[in-house]
Amino acid sequence: MVSTQELGAVTASPTFGGVTASPTFGGVTASPTFGGVTASPTHVGEPTRGGVSASEDHGLYHHYSRYLKETFGGKTYKVVVNSGLTCPTRDGTITKGGCTFCDVRGSSSFFGKQGRGGEITDQINSRLPGTRARFGAEKFIAYFQSYTNTYSDAEYLREIYGEALAHPDISGLAIGTRPDCLPDSVIELLEELAGKHYVSLELGIQSFEAPTLEWFIRGHDGECSRIALRKMRERAPHVHTCAHFIFGAPTDSATAPKDAALEMNEFGVKGVKLHQMMVLKYTKLAEMYEAAPFPILTMDEYAERAIQFLEHLRPDIYVERLQAKASHQAELIAPDWSKTHWIPYNRILKLMQERGSYQGKALGYAKT
Ligand code: SF4
Repeated sequence: MVSTQELGAVTASPTFGGVTASPTFGGVTASPTFGGVTASPTHVGEPTRGGVSASEDHGLYHHYSRYLKETFGGKTYKVVVNSGLTCPTRDGTITKGGCTFCDVRGSSSFFGKQGRGGEITDQINSRLPGTRARFGAEKFIAYFQSYTNTYSDAEYLREIYGEALAHPDISGLAIGTRPDCLPDSVIELLEELAGKHYVSLELGIQSFEAPTLEWFIRGHDGECSRIALRKMRERAPHVHTCAHFIFGAPTDSATAPKDAALEMNEFGVKGVKLHQMMVLKYTKLAEMYEAAPFPILTMDEYAERAIQFLEHLRPDIYVERLQAKASHQAELIAPDWSKTHWIPYNRILKLMQERGSYQGKALGYAKT
């Protein structure tokens, strides 16, 4: 669990590609990430199909591609790297078998073999050429995505993060983790690295609501997430924190998205990632669903939640993802609209356009 030792404030403002990566909003400079959970593509700045351009968000929300362009000045993609670490919900510290929604890959979107033994440099060298060829990428972020990538001592983490940063084609790190795996020594390391490099922490909040956290068997409560977010804001202000949420559990309250967005505004995160609850094969959720089917959101029901969240989110906070696509379609049980990216994505934007909705509207911000 997170301890409470105070660390001194750091005020450097490193730049990446000539652009300062730590603008302040209301005096807050922290920026988070998520906790190892995603079914999204590993690349960012993805070109669109079916209508709305990912790089042209129609002014409806602060798209991740804009944030990356401002931060790096060019097309930037993530290259998945495996840390070899596990999770407290997998090794028996909290439970075994993982959080209920999480698949056997620790929610990695990587399609290849999940090697745990390869050296970091070898992993980057083997995956980078394909990413460069496929997306025409100019810059790369080493993405420690699967499982809990701060679930070790700071010495080991320094070794693996340092190896990734030493690669000549790597411009920064994205590190997925849980809020209860951020001891002070790790926060101190992250802030130290963020003084010289781009470092994003993807923090898996998932929900602040106790019934949903219990439904997911997360093993931590909402207060644990608040403590982690507060510490990142105060002690690691140069780390770009991005918070990850899942909406659609039958335990969610009607105002869960709005309440979560308001908390993000308070904690000064740099970005957020949204994800519908999916039932995937080989998960605890699949067993629960088979034993007693529970309600699953329709595409429009999920869109309403995403819009509620966006309307209450400050416009300076980037949105890395509005919804997820199942990375491994053969393993998707529900909802079936998770098979595609563009249909639900375009549906959310269409509903926003029809009703004049945009990020921050409920807070009184003007449309940009
Ligand atoms: S903490 Fe839970 S959701 Fe995150 S990778 Fe581990 S098992 Fe999956």
